[in-house]
Amino acid sequence: MTKDQESSIGLSYVRAIAPYVGGKPISEVARELGLDESKIVKLASNENPLGMPDSAKKAMAKAAEDLGRYPDSNGFDLKNALANKLQVPFEWVTLGNGSNDILELTARAVAHEGDEVIFSKHAFAVYPLATQAVGAVAVEVPATADYGHDLAAMIKAITPKTRLIFVANPNNPTGTFLKGADIEAFIKQVPSHVVVVIDEAYNEFLTPEQQYDALAWVRLFPNVVVSRSFSKAYGLAGLRIGYGIAQTNVTDLLNRIRQPFNVNSLAQAAAIAALADKEFLKKCYDINRAGYKQLTEAFDQMGLRYLPSSGNFVLVKVGDEPTAGAKINLELLKAGIIVRPVGNYGLPEWLRISIGLPEENEAFIAALKKILN
Ligand SMILES: *Cc1c(COP(=O)(O)O)cnc(C)c1O
Repeated sequence: MTKDQESSIGLSYVRAIAPYVGGKPISEVARELGLDESKIVKLASNENPLGMPDSAKKAMAKAAEDLGRYPDSNGFDLKNALANKLQVPFEWVTLGNGSNDILELTARAVAHEGDEVIFSKHAFAVYPLATQAVGAVAVEVPATADYGHDLAAMIKAITPKTRLIFVANPNNPTGTFLKGADIEAFIKQVPSHVVVVIDEAYNEFLTPEQQYDALAWVRLFPNVVVSRSFSKAYGLAGLRIGYGIAQTNVTDLLNRIRQPFNVNSLAQAAAIAALADKEFLKKCYDINRAGYKQLTEAFDQMGLRYLPSSGNFVLVKVGDEPTAGAKINLELLKAGIIVRPVGNYGLPEWLRISIGLPEENEAFIAALKKILN
């Protein structure tokens, strides 16, 4: 037995956590499979195929001059920009090191050992992680037949021990979407001491017909947190920046437990610039719609089932065996295409494809056709 294995250090509920597995980095795939990095196509982490906006690059270069100093702990300029844009009080905004930070801070602020946290099956992997990290019990509610959140069943799952509910809209990795009216009806049924996080990491990809006003719920309900990200549509995944909107009874808690400097200066500067960059956002939206059409038409042609997606990714079923996802994923990797297997989400026959540039989507489609033939 090695020294490492003897240890029984650590809380048992922390030791029980299955660590997050992200999309494979390009450099790792190149190294492992002996491929040329520059030829690899990564469609695995729902990143922005346009990269980061030039406006953000410029703002960062300027902010870089000042990196000898700590960031603004209160994030004044960015919170101000967000409060203005969203028409909410400044005090309702909490900045996070990615919106992941907001999800975790909320769990830490409201739940501890023995409490219950509710989320849907096939929902975002960070919900169980944030739940387990505080020793709370994860209550995973079965999804609807079409892989979406079953809001009625989630209401039924509430017990006196429930402290927190995560709702992802659209959800990752399924891309499923809940209508605003349905979420509102749901929130009205949740007891006021149970916090509801509406995770809108993909909000900017919704069509105008799908858009709804989640902030109206924050105004009405002191137990609602709306969480958003700069990682996806705004193209700033590497900087780690997101935010939460909630009334001050919640933001006060989050501000007490967050790291004083949880969002770095470059991220703050870049986010302010990206937020104002309507042109970039529009371009990203258009490219995503076109890529969605390109991918799903190819799936239709190949006779592959996919789930209608409201995000910047598509879940596609690549076989009937539970090994199908892993098998096709490996073949794609060998062809230099990185996508995301989702066996850890209880979807081993499926792969999640992030929507890329037209030529990236085409490279993936061509490789998949070759593999399946
Ligand atoms: C990507 C994602 C996030 C977190 O993104 P950050 O990079 O931490 O802002 C949150 N929720 C869902 C559903 C996501 O897919």
